[in-house]
Amino acid sequence: SADTAMYHAKEGGRENFKFFKQEMNDRAVQRQSVEASLRLALERQEFVLYYQPKVNLRSGAIVGCEALIRWQHPERGLLSPEQFVSIAEDCGLILPIGRWVLREACLQALAWRQAGLRPIVVAVNTSALELRAMDFLENIRATLVETSMEPRYLELELTESVLMQDAESSNSALLALHDLGAKLALDDFGTGYSSLSYLRRFPIDTLKIDQSFVNHITSNKDDATIVCSVVSLGKSLNKRVIAEGVETQEQYEFLLAQECDEGQGFYLSRPVVAAALAALLQSGVSLPVYDGAA
Ligand code: C2E
Ligand code: MG
Ligand code: MG
Ligand code: MG
Repeated sequence: SADTAMYHAKEGGRENFKFFKQEMNDRAVQRQSVEASLRLALERQEFVLYYQPKVNLRSGAIVGCEALIRWQHPERGLLSPEQFVSIAEDCGLILPIGRWVLREACLQALAWRQAGLRPIVVAVNTSALELRAMDFLENIRATLVETSMEPRYLELELTESVLMQDAESSNSALLALHDLGAKLALDDFGTGYSSLSYLRRFPIDTLKIDQSFVNHITSNKDDATIVCSVVSLGKSLNKRVIAEGVETQEQYEFLLAQECDEGQGFYLSRPVVAAALAALLQSGVSLPVYDGAA
């Protein structure tokens, strides 16, 4: 962390500290240049959405998908959200980017319906800044109308830390969305603070068990216990429960045995481009029969 780095820098004396400052400086310069190219990327439409299926573990049917942003960078290739989303959040560009993501996902859902595919729930990730924006609710309403999307086919994924910031005003927007019929999912569940009180406070439909718990369910007893408890908690509270990061057949079978409703992960399918998701829907496959690890 920066603190530890600072400590070591001081320990090591002047030279190290100079080096440390230089490094911080480089990082700031790098962020500025990313920020500038993010602006251009919006104009030049360099962002793309990948879609990862959400699968009913019992039937193998695709019941939804999560839209995941990538940046097709002209020189650096396909960049993952880890490489630019936090910078976009820090400089506010996540607002126009988030509006693009929502509209693009809804337009894609419309295109799939127009191609005769059965409708599925499309989920988009929502940052704190977006939720707090004055036009958050109105923008969603307008986008749903523009893309003739029924609200029940839209799901917003929010993390606990997103809900933590400005919880009061967030809650009124989320209640309005809930009343409209849109769905809300608590992403990375179990990794943030106050998970349990949030379940009471916010109109949450779905719990997404974080992949860090799912990773070791077949080898670590504590992780297995946590996942089982979240599944039963979700069921008791009448919420859908989905496990993230399902990578192996053993994990899939474990979750199925625990009667977890849904799964998402490389074993079932990696995030894919829109045409590939359409092909999966078209073929009507049951995903768990595939060896997704290949
Ligand atoms: P997330 O919402 O928790 O998304 C799940 C991440 O786990 C995705 O990474 C997905 O590709 C990855 N994943 C899925 N299955 C597996 C698996 O079996 N194993 C492993 N190891 N990973 C798996 P991705 O696409 O790189 O996205 C990372 C994060 O970036 C997302 O985490 C989300 O927080 C954020 N993000 C992505 N798209 C958007 C967006 O449009 N807007 C905002 N604000 N954030 C986004
Ligand atoms: Mg998510
Ligand atoms: Mg997640
Ligand atoms: Mg995450």
